This record gives sequence, structure tokens and C-alpha cells, in this order.
Amino acid sequence: MFMHNALSQRAAALALITLMSAATATQAHAQDQRHQHGASAVEVSLDGNMLLVAWESPLSDLIGFEHAPRTASEKSQAAQLLATLQSPSALLTPNPEAQCRVTKVTTQAPSLMHTEHAHGAHDAHSDLDYAVSYNCAQPKALAQLRVNAFQTWPAIKAIEASLVGPGGQAVQTLRSQSATIDMRGIVATR
Ligand SMILES: [Zn+2]
Repeated sequence: MFMHNALSQRAAALALITLMSAATATQAHAQDQRHQHGASAVEVSLDGNMLLVAWESPLSDLIGFEHAPRTASEKSQAAQLLATLQSPSALLTPNPEAQCRVTKVTTQAPSLMHTEHAHGAHDAHSDLDYAVSYNCAQPKALAQLRVNAFQTWPAIKAIEASLVGPGGQAVQTLRSQSATIDMRGIVATR
């Protein structure tokens, strides 16, 4: 019961983040963000057939800079990143037995999406926030999420994964040589 409430709140929080205006998000990042380059975080939650993946990564690990793109080359890198993110498999892939289908992708990278605004502080950090929803026809067959981000973006050195589902919760630290999220303790076994 409690777990389901917690999951609903998490889903609501994700929806709220999606609705946040870009300006608000940019301000929050400029003022509060103390991220560590090389370190990303992913939150994975399973609720019934719905698998939610919410990923946060410093922009510099994805494109080498965090300010709004200025030069033609920076603009092209930013556009390429947004294009890459149209395919969630750039980040990770659930094992095929679970039959997960992408139902929604949300990308928030305020400093990339609003090139017209100058953000004042030239050294402000900026993140990518990326969320993917899947509908999994066989959620009990969900054994692992293969993390492809280390190959897609080699500047990513570590990803901390927080997992929650009907079977329990866990935190796993992933690196390029151990790039698999183990879902077996998270998925209900009966
Ligand atoms: Zn940074």
C-alpha cells in the first residue's frame, strides 16, 4: 500500500518537473546545482506495467559545455544531442523478455533549448533531465536494464541508480565495465 502511494507521488513529481517552466528550471540549476562532472544519476521505478526512468546528467559530460550554445559548432552539438535523445536506447535498454515499449520521452535541457537568453553567470552548471516511460507487457520478466550511456557518452564515468518497485528498493553504482542495472530484487517474484 505504502509502496504504491510512494510510486504515485513519484509519478506526480515527475509530471510536475515536466510542467516546470524552462525559466524556473534554469534558475534552479544556476543557483542550486552542485553537480559533479562525470557523475550521473538515474531513478528507476516500476509500478504495475509502467517502468519509469528519470536520468540527470551534467551537460558537460554529454556535449563538453554547459552554457547556451553560441558558435555554429556548439549549436550543432546541442542539436545532435537532442536528436540522439529521441532514442531512449542511447541511455539504456530493458531486457527484451519484459516486452517494454516506450510510451513517453521528456527532455529538459534549458540552457540548450533557449539559446536566445543570456544566463548571466557564464560559469553556471547546467544539467540534462531526461525521463522515459515504458509500458512493459511482462514486467515480471524484467531482469536487467543494460546501460548504453557509457558508450554513447564516454565522459560519463559513473551512474548512481536508485531503484524502487513492488519487490523492494536498491541503490546500484554503475561503471562502464559493470553497466547493467539488476532489476531482479525490484520486481515482485510471485
Ligand atoms: Zn557542470
